[in-house]
Amino acid sequence: MTSATNKSLKTGFMYHEIYMWHNTGNYAGIMPYGNPVQPGEHVENPETKRRFRNLLEVSGLLAKLESIQARPATEAEILRHHTREHLDNIKALSAAHGGDGGIFSPVGRGTYDIALLSAGGVISAVDAVLNGEVDNAYALVRPPGHHALADMAMGFCMFANAVLAGLHALEVRALKRIATVDWDVHHGNGTQAGFWEDPRALTISIHQDRCFPADSGFTTEIGTGAGEGYNMNIPLPPGSGVGAYEAAFDRVVIPALQAYKPELIIVPSGFDAGAHDPMGRMQMHSEGYRNLTRKIMKVADEVCDGRVVMCHEGGYNPATVPFYGLAVLEELSGIKTDVTDPFLEIMAALGGQDLQPHQDEAIRAAEALLANLK
Ligand code: ZN
Repeated sequence: MTSATNKSLKTGFMYHEIYMWHNTGNYAGIMPYGNPVQPGEHVENPETKRRFRNLLEVSGLLAKLESIQARPATEAEILRHHTREHLDNIKALSAAHGGDGGIFSPVGRGTYDIALLSAGGVISAVDAVLNGEVDNAYALVRPPGHHALADMAMGFCMFANAVLAGLHALEVRALKRIATVDWDVHHGNGTQAGFWEDPRALTISIHQDRCFPADSGFTTEIGTGAGEGYNMNIPLPPGSGVGAYEAAFDRVVIPALQAYKPELIIVPSGFDAGAHDPMGRMQMHSEGYRNLTRKIMKVADEVCDGRVVMCHEGGYNPATVPFYGLAVLEELSGIKTDVTDPFLEIMAALGGQDLQPHQDEAIRAAEALLANLK
């Protein structure tokens, strides 16, 4: 259970130091400072991401991954999904030393160019996989993307990285169907909105019920028009652990991918469902993320020649996120390092790691959505 079982694969890794220079500014958690909020640090800061990349280096794994070069998305690529007004707004705020690009989305000086490189990084990772240069890839990009809407930034996200990469795969690379599987603790509302009427993308989000945004992420949101049935939400109760996540994958996510048969699977990968994360109330741990990765890879082998691209989203505990990331990259590459996650024993012993009856009920409600897939 703890060792990677795959043969060694060529795994691409996308990272650029400039991603860490996106400056979310002076906040306290998610709140702008100002009496009564003492000045402090924004929860979405570089530390979790930098430490994730650093642990890959220190473990020795980074040297065995294929480095994918970042390139900025073009304006035309951004406008494939976003409005001109949104693009211009982020550009103007970025040039004018910042502001909020929408809802809870701090823009710093230079954020616009970094956000272009973030979206372009995920597009490059998709190209590297589709070109056969690598078998699969992880894009450790920033700012994140899964809350961004066509006409505004939201939830720390500027541009909808997964939507833009998916549209690139469909419209430039001529794939017929793709799927997204979002395991960030928050609802992937931006990705859902991007493909809401589009049957070429099966969008799946597994998240903590009404964590953020509070008014979306329900099982009743299934898409509309030609896209009806191709959006699936699996809202899990707060407190869900590895047992609930694995059951949701076995009973809903994997059968959905087997039925839909995408040619590429994009995973908006947030690690804020980890136990000890300040922004979520779930109980995932590194072995849990390893097991979910293994399940995704197995179904990807069955339906799309193993083509998986993960793009980084949330995850706010700087101490623990690197170990989740390492477990995922070990599984993607089939290369086990000799690093042991020192947090695993504590997290695995938490009460409620097994599937609980009320969680089983939530998964059963999501299972009914499988009938929508033709
Ligand atoms: Zn999140």
